[in-house]
Amino acid sequence: MKRRTGQDPSITRNWKPATQAVRGGTARSEFGETSEALFLTSGYAYDCAADAAARFAGEQQGMTYSRLQNPTVEMLEQRIALLEGAEACRSMATGMAAMTAALLCQLEQGDHIVAGRAAFGSCRWLTDTLLPKFGIQATIVDARDPQQFQDAVQDNTKLFFFETPANPTMDVVDLEAVCGIARARGIKTVVDNAFATPALQRPMEWGADIVAYSATKMMDGQGRVLAGAVAGTEDFITNTLLPFHRNTGPTLSAFNAWVVLKGLETLDLRIRRQSENALKVGAFLEGRVPKVNFPALPSHPQHALFMRQMAAAGPIFSFEVDGGRGQAHGLLDALELIDISNNIGDSRSLMTHPSSTTHSGVSEEKRLEMGVTENLLRLNVGLEDADDLVADLDQALRHVGL
Ligand SMILES: *Cc1c(COP(=O)(O)O)cnc(C)c1O
Repeated sequence: MKRRTGQDPSITRNWKPATQAVRGGTARSEFGETSEALFLTSGYAYDCAADAAARFAGEQQGMTYSRLQNPTVEMLEQRIALLEGAEACRSMATGMAAMTAALLCQLEQGDHIVAGRAAFGSCRWLTDTLLPKFGIQATIVDARDPQQFQDAVQDNTKLFFFETPANPTMDVVDLEAVCGIARARGIKTVVDNAFATPALQRPMEWGADIVAYSATKMMDGQGRVLAGAVAGTEDFITNTLLPFHRNTGPTLSAFNAWVVLKGLETLDLRIRRQSENALKVGAFLEGRVPKVNFPALPSHPQHALFMRQMAAAGPIFSFEVDGGRGQAHGLLDALELIDISNNIGDSRSLMTHPSSTTHSGVSEEKRLEMGVTENLLRLNVGLEDADDLVADLDQALRHVGL
């Protein structure tokens, strides 16, 4: 039993998140390895033909094919579920695979959804372009105002879909209020929790039904692999998501699952140090640029709500210059330490100009509506010494006259 830590749910469920991040879901093989084993296998062999038939009939426990089950992938899924406080979780090849599956598995022609306006570019493509192709209409609202969700509800509204904090404007959604509006009407909520991770925010504690992730971001946290996950009730994962997932195949590779398992071991440490660094860098920028969109700073209009929902600042925020794209690109080009890169959640500090990169696929009108102007820059604050980051920003800002 000792070798199988993580297998007895009556014990493991009570572990605190920091313990879950290191041990949750661990299933040791007969060798008793301390670190999770990496099972790079696409298939599984059976002792006899009758066993194969019994497994396919669901009469015998065991794995049949890695699109459906894999021991390393299952360890990650259990760990994320335990961290999230969810009954179950299914991992995916990318965050966008997770968002797509979370929506499509439960929607059908004639349904309606309400979605947050400020969102990752590809999430807006799902709501604005993909869903309408299948006869599913989306009403896009300013998710900072819960009343807008309420007002957008129709008889055929099946779900609310939003992210908080949102990429890249850092809009904060009142989870309790919006999930409450949904619950009262039998509408499901899908929350994209990529920016916060369960280390900082657990949307289900505020009434969310389904939490979806890009695990590419803070969960891997070291800029190595793409991964995604969807967490929810056992019933939703097994009966609604799993049939979609098994048959369409956005499966996470065992290798990438293993890398994310290693990433989760240090998630809490990294996110707290990166949050401290982000606060130092954000406070510095506040005195130097026209606008900083960082709800962790006391001056932000949504500071109180942010602090209620989040355990720490998180590593990501955005800010504005006042000289348009030329100045924004000039600032990026003058950086000597911080990389020009559109990834986030990495242990390295990275900066991007969303309107010409992550949100270039969103029309200009929609970009401006969600606050993605030519002046906006998004910063992921890494694990470097905050003084070095401030010095780099200081010299780059002077270079562009700020
Ligand atoms: C990155 C991101 C995604 C997409 O995740 P991928 O792993 O890149 O597919 C979705 N939502 C948010 C908020 C993101 O930051």
